[in-house]
Amino acid sequence: MLITGKDLLAVAHENYFAVPAFNISDWAMFNGIVEISEEEQSPLIVAIHPDELSHITADLLPAIIARSHRASVPVTIHLDHGANYEQALTAIQAGFKSLMIDGSMLSFEENAALTKRVAETAHKVGLSVEGELGTIGKMDEEAEDGAVEIIYTDPADAVRFIQETGVDSLAVAIGTSHGIYPSWLKPALKLDLLKEIKAATGIPLVLHGGSGNPDDEIAEAVKLGINKINISSDIKHAYHSKMREVLADAGVREPNTIQPPSLVAMKETAKHKIRLFDAAGKATLY
Ligand SMILES: [Zn+2]
Repeated sequence: MLITGKDLLAVAHENYFAVPAFNISDWAMFNGIVEISEEEQSPLIVAIHPDELSHITADLLPAIIARSHRASVPVTIHLDHGANYEQALTAIQAGFKSLMIDGSMLSFEENAALTKRVAETAHKVGLSVEGELGTIGKMDEEAEDGAVEIIYTDPADAVRFIQETGVDSLAVAIGTSHGIYPSWLKPALKLDLLKEIKAATGIPLVLHGGSGNPDDEIAEAVKLGINKINISSDIKHAYHSKMREVLADAGVREPNTIQPPSLVAMKETAKHKIRLFDAAGKATLY
């Protein structure tokens, strides 16, 4: 069934698991992600970035909403990295159930003012809002926005930000970057900082850009109170790597020949993440 982001994350927050937020940019990927979530009985956040929304167009939303209602697991449809008030309104109109407003590249005051404005509007129509404080890194040109340098989230600032804005969940910078990491980079999460932020804020926390961080650190972060983890690069990499292999045969032409094996590869990656985040089987808690 389709539920709000707030209801979805409340259960994860109480039970110390993280709901995967998979970015989807076409129908086949979306449907594949719903299927693997149903197979694993995992709650699901369908994340759509404004660039992805421009690509698929809001015309696809009614179909996404209908499929989500029919799903055997709880699903929410979430705007990923909304950049301004207008994008948030567009998402509300299109039927999204959860919004992120990302003012992390602005000053604290500007970020708080923008996030507060979006949260006030979203709350009036029963939707929840994710804000971001601190700066998540950016590893490659195709990655979502971010800075080259990570600016770690300060726990006291996080408390003040939540009080001033009324956000329901918060994306934190604790040592992850968007995109695929170069081989020389040895990433490390600041798990002590995460512990401090969770203790100080007491709300669902979100991790963006953990593609290259080691699995054991991610699993530890889930135990320490990360309740939503964004997955974009990893599933798209799996999907299109397999597609390149399939397309090596110049004779193939039909999407229904080309996409299924690519979806199998994507689902395998998604399944790994679902289990890593301890989300498998958690649909029964709703
Ligand atoms: Zn992100």
